Amino acid sequence: MKYVVFLGDGMADVPSSALGGKTPLELADKPNIDALCEHGIIGLAKTIDDSLSPGSDVANLSVLGYDPTVYYTGRSPLEALSIGVALSDNDVTFRANLVTVSDESDYAEKTMVDYSSGEITTEEAGELIAYLKEHMSFPHIELHAGISYRHLLVWDGGSTNVSLTPPHDISDKKVTEYLPKGDGAETLLAIMKKSHELLSDHPINKARIARGLNPANSLWIWGEGRKPQLDSFREKYGLSGSMISAVDLLKGIGKGTGMNVVEVPGATGNIDTNFDGKAEAAINELKKGQEFIYIHVEAPDECGHHGDAEGKIESIGLIDKKIVGPVVSYLKESGEDFRILVTPDHPTPLAIKTHSRAEVPFVIYDSGAKEGLGLSYTEANAKQTGIYLDKGYQLMQYLLNGEI
Ligand SMILES: [Zn+2]
Repeated sequence: MKYVVFLGDGMADVPSSALGGKTPLELADKPNIDALCEHGIIGLAKTIDDSLSPGSDVANLSVLGYDPTVYYTGRSPLEALSIGVALSDNDVTFRANLVTVSDESDYAEKTMVDYSSGEITTEEAGELIAYLKEHMSFPHIELHAGISYRHLLVWDGGSTNVSLTPPHDISDKKVTEYLPKGDGAETLLAIMKKSHELLSDHPINKARIARGLNPANSLWIWGEGRKPQLDSFREKYGLSGSMISAVDLLKGIGKGTGMNVVEVPGATGNIDTNFDGKAEAAINELKKGQEFIYIHVEAPDECGHHGDAEGKIESIGLIDKKIVGPVVSYLKESGEDFRILVTPDHPTPLAIKTHSRAEVPFVIYDSGAKEGLGLSYTEANAKQTGIYLDKGYQLMQYLLNGEI
């Protein structure tokens, strides 16, 4: 038996008047996912426990069957694992976004223009982070470069007793009320201010502005956490597993659980990501004998954050056509039994441009099952069946055992 999870980050939504009362899932052209759904089971799963905030970290741990109320120690330490930063028990890690803030001279008066600096390239970001490391020094604190706008700060002896705000939650808002609070807040704010001073006039940013792009003119610090202790995927499930994703968070979960983390060239975490490459990578892993493949695609989430309805609909269509289609064809031709899970981690509704904690619509397809429910893959159909998992981590049991 082979198991494949197709995870469309943030792809669930709510009906939108701008879309004629429909959701992106309802409008997307996705014949392959719909075929799985028609012959499978569709329902709702609650991937975000009430005690946790709705993020891809918590939600993907849930989907992978790791109860986040037990295993979650913050987002940035998972990313640290991916980047290959070894953590000690004393370390507190933070996500450091390269963001675009507005021009007011007082930092507290600035507006969060873009949490992603226009999806800055990893090369440009790498140079900016190297520049910051060279010209900025805070005791016991180290900066590490990641992918695109997503970077990492490690504070030896830092505290998690802080209140920090994800920058994608305050798009177009004044930052005044969202500056760091709690233990170490002064230092964290000093780093943000110093980074702004250093980055504003950097040649890379001048060139970006000249090209009509958002400059990466400040670090924004959030996502505090400590070294995670994740059980081995193989020991937990008795299966060899592979993780395919462009983003460090998912790669970190893969590394932390001892899965095989596959590097896909050209995988960006955006709509220009290498969709074909992800399908190829998945098929390769299956050919090598891996039993469980987790394919994460970030694009619908990014489109949700940007309020880009067209992009969100298109990215769901691309996942269907370029990833689900080829992987399912391969599985069918291989003649082996297989089960598939299609699900978002959390909704990223266009209307709010950030994550919601609403339940997600999931599909489970079993190649050996005779009949399905005959429904297409939409939020409304998932609700209509009344199949409801109140613990997201039950999805894995459902997938592996065919029952809860
Ligand atoms: Zn997101």
